[in-house]
Amino acid sequence: MCREHYKILYIDGIRKDDESLEAFMGKCVHATLEWIYQPRNIKKPYMTFDSICKKYDELWLEAWHDRIYIANPRSTTDEFYTIGKRCLANYYNKYGPVFEEAVKGTELELEFTINETYKFRGVIDRLDNPAEGRWIIHDYKTGKHPKTDRAARNDLQLALYQIAVESNFEPVNEVILIWHFLRNGNEVRIVHDREAIEGFKKKTIRAVDKIIKLSEDNGNFYPRESLLCNWCYYWEECSVKQEKNPSLVAR
Ligand code: SF4
Repeated sequence: MCREHYKILYIDGIRKDDESLEAFMGKCVHATLEWIYQPRNIKKPYMTFDSICKKYDELWLEAWHDRIYIANPRSTTDEFYTIGKRCLANYYNKYGPVFEEAVKGTELELEFTINETYKFRGVIDRLDNPAEGRWIIHDYKTGKHPKTDRAARNDLQLALYQIAVESNFEPVNEVILIWHFLRNGNEVRIVHDREAIEGFKKKTIRAVDKIIKLSEDNGNFYPRESLLCNWCYYWEECSVKQEKNPSLVAR
């Protein structure tokens, strides 16, 4: 995200309903996976893939709105709908048909502070607690590109979720981080040692200090144009764009 996009969103607090078809599909897949792990479904002896597809269809139709955009004119709504279904099929083939994990929560919102200085809030896709002190953080990705082990090891998002779990629950003896790359059915698992987690805390504090300094100095949240502008719906607010994002409305 470019600095100007960050400022528009988080400092000016401007929020819009506009979203890309990719983001909409990702939300529907996440909501379907959340539904799979509802207590009444976990209790079932097994789940059929048909029931999961039915739920995905329901969620897709219920959530559909007229501010969903296609950035790449060669893409279609059908194509993304099918990619979402393939994500669910990959997940079902790998983990189904019995979904009896010891789920502590899905879409779990947790607040935490780092070094008693800054407050953070994160939403974890799924948190499991299979044994006392053992925690597993799951993150679902519907994007095209899976992370390498190395990129996952350096990823701040799930490291922050680990800090959130350590701040909100006890005992915490072991935390496993799992990224599910749903388009190709792969997962990447990482366990951080204490030194790595302390390093993430320092890195986060440095980044927050930098943002605070920039905003206090009325600093330079300059725009950085790139291919990602095609998926940004703040062209009217952006200082370098003269028009509305020209993406097509998805149908
Ligand atoms: S349109 Fe591009 S440069 Fe402008 S805010 Fe969005 S991402 Fe940044």
